[in-house]
Amino acid sequence: MLYLDNSATTKILPEVLEAMMPYLSEYYGNPNSKYYSQALETKKAVDLARHQIAVLLNCSDDEILFTSGSTESNNFVLKGYVDANENLGKHIIISSVEHASILNTAKFLESKGIEVTYLPVDKNGFINANDLIKSIKRETILVSIMWSNNELGSINDIKKISEICHKHNILFHTDATQVIGKIPIDLSDYINIDFLSFSAHKFYGPKGVGGVFIRKDKNGFYPKLTPLLHGGEQEYDLRAGTLAVHQIVGMGKAAEIACRDMESNIKKLYEYENEFICRMKKVFGNKIIINNNFDNKIPGLISLRILGYNNQLFLKNASSLIAASTGSACSNAKPSYVLKACGYKDEEIRETIRFSLSAYDNYDHFNSIE
Ligand code: PMP
Repeated sequence: MLYLDNSATTKILPEVLEAMMPYLSEYYGNPNSKYYSQALETKKAVDLARHQIAVLLNCSDDEILFTSGSTESNNFVLKGYVDANENLGKHIIISSVEHASILNTAKFLESKGIEVTYLPVDKNGFINANDLIKSIKRETILVSIMWSNNELGSINDIKKISEICHKHNILFHTDATQVIGKIPIDLSDYINIDFLSFSAHKFYGPKGVGGVFIRKDKNGFYPKLTPLLHGGEQEYDLRAGTLAVHQIVGMGKAAEIACRDMESNIKKLYEYENEFICRMKKVFGNKIIINNNFDNKIPGLISLRILGYNNQLFLKNASSLIAASTGSACSNAKPSYVLKACGYKDEEIRETIRFSLSAYDNYDHFNSIE
């Protein structure tokens, strides 16, 4: 079976699993306990994982905070920043194609009296910088724009967007779930990003763990944030709860591997996607229409239409051969709001399938597609 749904989740790499195993058996101490070796071992492992992620993003170790994944990170940044800074203003800006964990958090904030602007996008899912500038008000305190769209894979000009925000003294958050580990991210180069969310299972790590980058100011202080989870003092007093050491170790290892393999993975994925598209065109001829903008997109993500084929029916009938999806696994029941916001017609949305490839599978030229 061809697993082509790596934007939904990836398989854990054997090296990642191997790194995690001792922390499920031998080393079970609580990393926040003191003095005894069990605790010190797990604390060391958590510190190493934090460092491995900081290396991947080129930031300081203490700017990485562990969470259960991007859903939590997105909720934490939006709710936490708004709650702690409401006195400065009650307006935030997001795009209309954000993941449900941003859109529904924004809706929740609206119900609490926060004004939200939803920026429109073009056919590729890109926001327009002028739209952003025009929507900024004196009351705007936060902008959140995803680094890459998860259905078309289009990569936003995050540098330009974050610069606009900083020019207006507004903090900037980006949901980087679909790009982390897949394209180089150097946060010393993207100095206007204040918050960045990620999940390990999108880059060959375990599910249920992720994190958020929080940039410290020049005096070494975090921005004012209210915790989402109140409790103990773990994670700099910003996120309570005993750390999931095995998950964190797995995420750290996955980050280390992403650094090591990034260049060759990108090359491989471009080769695989060319082969995949050729194969699909050989089988379906001119019924294949590619939706992606190839100038600036995530390697290995292909969004295409097969004219005259209903996507749900196609995937159901092909499910013993191919695993792919019609869009985000988190919003699978309804036709894609992302493609709708990009201006696709209903019948085009019903024909669209997202195929997302892995750099660690050997697809054998996709010969099984016939
Ligand atoms: N943001 C984006 C862009 C995503 O693709 C996803 C996962 N589909 C999430 C956030 C949420 O990630 P998780 O389910 O790991 O919390």
